[in-house]
Amino acid sequence: MKVFYNICSYFLVIIMATQISFAQNKERKDVPEKYKWDNSIIYKSVDEWNKDKEAIQAQIESLKSFQGKMGKNSELFYTTLRIYFDIYKLYYKLSDYAFRTADEDLRISANQSLNQISTTIGTKLGEAASFINPEILSMDAERIKKFFDEKKELSEFKFYISDILRLRAHTLSAREEEILASAGLITSTPSELHSIFYNAEKPNPKIKLSKGEQVELNSAAFNKYRTVQNRKDRELVMRSMFENYKKYQNTFGANLAGKVRGDYFYAKNRKYETVLESSLNSNNIPVSVYENLISQIHKNLPTLHRFLKLKAKMLGIDKLHYYDLYVPLVKSVDFKYNVEEGQKLLLDVFKPMGQEYVSTVKKSFDEKWIDYIPSNGKRSGAYSSGAQYDLHPYILMNWTDDFESVSTLAHELGHTMHSYYSNKSQSFVDAQYATFVAEIASTINETLLNNYMVNKVKTDEEKLYLLGSYLDLLRTTIFRQTSFAEFEWEIHKKIEKGEPLTGEDMSKIYYDIVKTYYGNDNGACIVDDYIAYEWAHIPHFVNYTYYVYQYSTSLIYATALAEKIVNEGQPAVDKFYNILKGGSSAYPIDLIKKAGLDPLSSEAFDLTMAKMNKVMDQMEEIIKKKKK
Ligand SMILES: [Zn+2]
Repeated sequence: MKVFYNICSYFLVIIMATQISFAQNKERKDVPEKYKWDNSIIYKSVDEWNKDKEAIQAQIESLKSFQGKMGKNSELFYTTLRIYFDIYKLYYKLSDYAFRTADEDLRISANQSLNQISTTIGTKLGEAASFINPEILSMDAERIKKFFDEKKELSEFKFYISDILRLRAHTLSAREEEILASAGLITSTPSELHSIFYNAEKPNPKIKLSKGEQVELNSAAFNKYRTVQNRKDRELVMRSMFENYKKYQNTFGANLAGKVRGDYFYAKNRKYETVLESSLNSNNIPVSVYENLISQIHKNLPTLHRFLKLKAKMLGIDKLHYYDLYVPLVKSVDFKYNVEEGQKLLLDVFKPMGQEYVSTVKKSFDEKWIDYIPSNGKRSGAYSSGAQYDLHPYILMNWTDDFESVSTLAHELGHTMHSYYSNKSQSFVDAQYATFVAEIASTINETLLNNYMVNKVKTDEEKLYLLGSYLDLLRTTIFRQTSFAEFEWEIHKKIEKGEPLTGEDMSKIYYDIVKTYYGNDNGACIVDDYIAYEWAHIPHFVNYTYYVYQYSTSLIYATALAEKIVNEGQPAVDKFYNILKGGSSAYPIDLIKKAGLDPLSSEAFDLTMAKMNKVMDQMEEIIKKKKK
């Protein structure tokens, strides 16, 4: 899967609840121009946009006329690919403008219709181009090599073609492909069923908190009330939530088993031994990367246990329970930053990335790549879009004058720099980077911001807050997501071995994993029996296949690379540019290797755990000093 559009979140929120923000009472026309992006450089007017729209529609028709001719000679082979990628490039420009314009105010239906038109064109383009891969695959390797020898311009498509040929053994006949594609109508059922039952039809538990407050525990209320200071209340919240899932574990289980069987149906028919192999192969990621993640994290569980014991100490709790995990370690600190202060801070924060990087970030501020201020109807949240190739990426923000805003901007700037340098360094064909590397640059930026702030803030409270939130991020992203990855693997193995898989089996598998991770037996954190049903609460299992492990690997690689950048300086930065500029010119694993890390070794894990231990040393020192 290639990424040109990042909506980022390390949290398990998959449905964007409200996409339109209405609470601001500020209209876009009242926002000063300097806080708005300038998308008039893409198209000056809708008339110009319409001209390209018509050009694309005509080109799509012309692409269709090449069907059945690619294998005839090198000229036709080249021309087909040339036209296809040229349309795609123009289409990205067209849709970038439509989406950016629509997001400014989602209430304006004229802009929404630009959006819909470009989506429809995208579908038509996909359909028109659907002959390309099968035609390439129907040619023998000799003939393709001959074409490359004859027509030098084909070298631009070398990696693209070799990647299609790599999957030859797993590509079926046209008729079989058609059958697999149509099975999607059936195999999407578990996800649909889950969405309806989980969000709408499942009754939520109703509880009464110690102060008499009545709460219905939907997902939002659960996320809020599991963080309360009153320990009895948060215990009640977590127990009630998960015991409720126990009532439906057979339903959730049968549904998830259906999803896993669907995964296996595709993998088996595509001639893979396992779903894991099939999922990872789309980006040519070896299964050993996944195995290495899980075994390395197991090896490093003592570091998590140290954190859990520190957490217990800071919360003044004798025996930490799972329901204590979401209470903030320290009271949150109110950092205030307006846009200008945030920009100034980040230019300082990014200094370890070198002058080149800092000046590009400055350029993004000066040349209006970013839309900062929330206004009525504007899309909520934040994203970076590097879709169009010739100009520059755009960032949407909803700035609220706090540290969260600075941190989000740092993150989105990572995506933007990645897109900018990849677009600048690679041909359009190889410019879009894979999901596996997509969160590395963004996370490095957040890490640099955190490092910088820890050194800059004056009070112990502020330091503890920053260090504590950082550790919580490592716990939830690295350890928790890896435990999910392990659960996903275990349930798939059951189906692949032909064993039964019920909701009860899932609860047992899940409970064993969580007990191991959280050190139930060595007393680091007590995992009460109702935690066994938590898997039913995680929508990712039924909505995605082998996706969540990338949250974990991204943060591990980013932490390790940030450590190298801070310790080694420019030579490490230079290596990191291999990812920034790499696009998809090589497979993700090779790009990470070029950046100075081997995903199959323990190095990234060792560096990350050393960093985590260093942060805990810092915290313990502050706590000791405070006690004196
Ligand atoms: Zn992101």
